[in-house]
Amino acid sequence: MAKPVLRMGQVEMHRSGRAGWLRAAVLGSDDAIVSTASLMIGVAASSAPKGAILVAGVAGMVAGAMSMAVGEYVSVSSQRDAEQADIERETGELTEQPEAELRELALIYVKRGLDNELAMKVAQQLSARDRLGAHMRDELGIDQKSLARPLQAAWISAVSFAAFAVLPIAALLVAPASLRLAAIAALSLASLAALGAFGGHLGGAPIGRAAVRVTLGGALAMAVTAVIGRILGVSAG
Ligand SMILES: [Zn+2]
Repeated sequence: MAKPVLRMGQVEMHRSGRAGWLRAAVLGSDDAIVSTASLMIGVAASSAPKGAILVAGVAGMVAGAMSMAVGEYVSVSSQRDAEQADIERETGELTEQPEAELRELALIYVKRGLDNELAMKVAQQLSARDRLGAHMRDELGIDQKSLARPLQAAWISAVSFAAFAVLPIAALLVAPASLRLAAIAALSLASLAALGAFGGHLGGAPIGRAAVRVTLGGALAMAVTAVIGRILGVSAG
């Protein structure tokens, strides 16, 4: 039997492992369109003038981008703190009891199906190359290449929110007064469908179903704020 030859780079791509930030950006973009368009439609339905709808849209864009950034920063920072604490504790253990840690690592490979001798060999070779890295990956489940990055998460979500919140605002600016509501809703729903399809593609899920789900959700949000804006516009006006 020929000995199998292993080459680097011969690894299959799995979609679920794709960059988390891209999925976060897609979610932030959905959020931007739904909330900004709903806000503008609510104000427009109250028979407010174009200037007021524009102010609502821009304020919604800025507020949404800031709140996404803060929210992401806080949540990713706490994940980061937990990872950091794990790494520090592991580094301490590796210095204080290297023998016990080596056995612990080998035991992990035994549990995954290697025999004792081979597991010890694997543990020794991986430790010789990058001891902390081997423990982080196989014991703690932390990948050094994908450590939580709070600032990156914050600016990516703020920028993607602002970029997509521009869509309903652009629809307002170009549409004639009589078609304002329809134009904002139509452009927003079309963008949501496209983003939903893209998000489904990223996750390897059925594209149609993902697009329909996010579009229906967005339509519902816009319909609810339109009704509320209309009621408030009538009672206040
Ligand atoms: Zn360990």
